[in-house]
Amino acid sequence: MKSLWRDAEARRKNALDQLVYRSRLIGYEAKLCVWGGGNTSTKRIERDHLGRSIKILWVKGSGSDLKVSERKHFSPLRLDDLSLLLRREQMTDEEMVELLSRSLMDPKAPRPSIEALLHAFLPFQDIDHSHADAILSVTNTKHGREIAKKIYGSSLIWIPYVKPGFTLAKRMYEAYRKNPKAQGAILENHGLITWGDSSKESYSRMIQMVSRAESYIHKKARGRSATKRSGSATRFGGKPFGPSIHKTLNESARKEWLRGFLPIIRKVVSARKEVVLHVVTNPAVLEFVNSKLGPRLSQIGPATPDHMLRTKRIPLFVKINPRHCEEAVRPTKQSQGTGLLRFARNDGLTVTLEKQIESFAKAHERYFHRFRKSGMQMLDPYPRVLLIPGIGLIATGKDKDSAIQCAEVYEHSIQTMRGAQAIDQYRSLSLPLAFEMEYWSLELYKLTLAPPEKPLARKIALITGACGAIGRAISEKLVREGAHIAICDLDLKKAEKLASELDTKFGIGRAMGLKMDVTKEKDVVESFSKTVLEFGGLDAVVSNAGIAHISPVDTLALKDWEKSLGVNATGHFLVAREAIKILKKQSLGGNLIFIATKNVLAPGKDFGAYSASKSAEAQLARICAIEGGEWEIRSNMVNPDGVFEGSGLWSQEIRKERANSYGIKTNQLEAFYQNRNLLKTQILPSDVANSVAFLASDESSKTTGCILTVDGGVREAFPR
Ligand SMILES: [Zn+2]
Repeated sequence: MKSLWRDAEARRKNALDQLVYRSRLIGYEAKLCVWGGGNTSTKRIERDHLGRSIKILWVKGSGSDLKVSERKHFSPLRLDDLSLLLRREQMTDEEMVELLSRSLMDPKAPRPSIEALLHAFLPFQDIDHSHADAILSVTNTKHGREIAKKIYGSSLIWIPYVKPGFTLAKRMYEAYRKNPKAQGAILENHGLITWGDSSKESYSRMIQMVSRAESYIHKKARGRSATKRSGSATRFGGKPFGPSIHKTLNESARKEWLRGFLPIIRKVVSARKEVVLHVVTNPAVLEFVNSKLGPRLSQIGPATPDHMLRTKRIPLFVKINPRHCEEAVRPTKQSQGTGLLRFARNDGLTVTLEKQIESFAKAHERYFHRFRKSGMQMLDPYPRVLLIPGIGLIATGKDKDSAIQCAEVYEHSIQTMRGAQAIDQYRSLSLPLAFEMEYWSLELYKLTLAPPEKPLARKIALITGACGAIGRAISEKLVREGAHIAICDLDLKKAEKLASELDTKFGIGRAMGLKMDVTKEKDVVESFSKTVLEFGGLDAVVSNAGIAHISPVDTLALKDWEKSLGVNATGHFLVAREAIKILKKQSLGGNLIFIATKNVLAPGKDFGAYSASKSAEAQLARICAIEGGEWEIRSNMVNPDGVFEGSGLWSQEIRKERANSYGIKTNQLEAFYQNRNLLKTQILPSDVANSVAFLASDESSKTTGCILTVDGGVREAFPR
């Protein structure tokens, strides 16, 4: 492991900024810490709010992530107050939290890390704590203590497992007193601590200690220093997970399987709360899921307690033969050349998969009831990580970002097991100790720091014509309300640009850009497939793409009539058809929202191709409501009238022709539309977007087959 420390950069910083700098360096290296793991501190003499000189411990606050550390993520504590606590024999967690918060210099600072006392009791200026993969590989083994001794001699203290908090802090201090020359400590089944009298010293020792473990593992993995009691790597000819017993499906079969089965998996794992999925199929993951030992190793337990917050204690290792997966997606004569989104047809496989997920949840319930204490609430019992031979890893989360984090944490668990198996045999916390941590209120507190969920949180939506004025407004609104979206447009570049703008504004993985010509069956099918592969399913579709053509019927060219029908009728049909297939497969209900027009109810002259084709859309929307009811699939329409702002539909030419039809000047057109409605108001893209968000949300859960007008009130277009 390389040190990222730069003297030139560090030298310019004051004490707190140097702590921030060092924390970022540690957080930046994923092999040291993933997503919120680890913590750091520094001790300084500073002036308090009354100008008195006082010893302060700056320690990372609970729940923040080291790699994006800022000053505000650290809590200043009165060190002398905390040092007094060393005299205590014991302390409950609640008391510790209370005493820590009373020792805060700044009442607005975040709650200090649960490992704050450990930082306080040790007399060193700078202290770092990580959950480095290589250290976890050493400590999570049958003979971890001996191996650590071999690697580090007495330079690292070994602390037998104890839950973080007062007891660990006190034991750490006592062990240090017995070995004051040590440079750090290994916390069994948990991680590494290093210290020093400067930021650089503590950080450098962290890198050094981890590097020593890495090179020990590396040597063992290559079998150079194999001993009698060597790990699995030697026993299985350099393969830490044993021989590979399954083959990975080829890429197209794997994708086909995933787009067929992800909605089914999403349905089952969403039984308590809906989730978004993330699939990982890299070589390291595939090696593990295809291996002989993978099924057993994956059930041993977490690499460090912190990982359980995201992955649960264990993943679900799905017991299926990849050969059956391959058979399930093999093209049949009927499916070939239809261009339809094919789903896996093997019902046996679906049942097996559903049963295994359900029995995982039941096992979690039993585990909870076995160890629960009064007042505890069971967490969602469904798996957060699914490992599937021949396919890969599927992680779940409340949003895409959480699902990605969950997958990354588990990839580090695999890496830890790989190292442990290379030097010995992987071990983890016992069941009661794992439960104690998985359900520890101080760990769960981190989850409560998340902001409250938005109305469309956990939802996945696809929007067509998404880069026009109305489409953009809808896209932004849905993401703002918490949804994940596929932005589909004729112009891929525009779609990708909008997706990246929304990601920057609202968070990683919230939007993806796709090319879709709604009149092309292949485009439509592929866009839905990509949406499923990216997010794991679908909850809402906003069928918005449309075109306008102006001409009296007697001069309307056949090609213009057909073009209007192609986009405004057939386009909606193709989109609705693919959406319904997925929604039925997923069985979580769903929403189809058709952007129609006031013209459906009150057609205008010279608008024959437009009004007739949009009426076909409206009738289709009603049929979808009728057919979708038993699946809890709702289908509704939004009827806007004359949305001019930023509109591509209202080109200069269309404006001119429409003004001619009404016998007014082009520049009077917007005012004309405004004046003809009862509220004398202008209709904006955001008005349409607000109605779409309402129809996509549970607030409209009893509404289907309905027209929601967004026209300022046009008497002739009242729905009836
Ligand atoms: Zn820790």
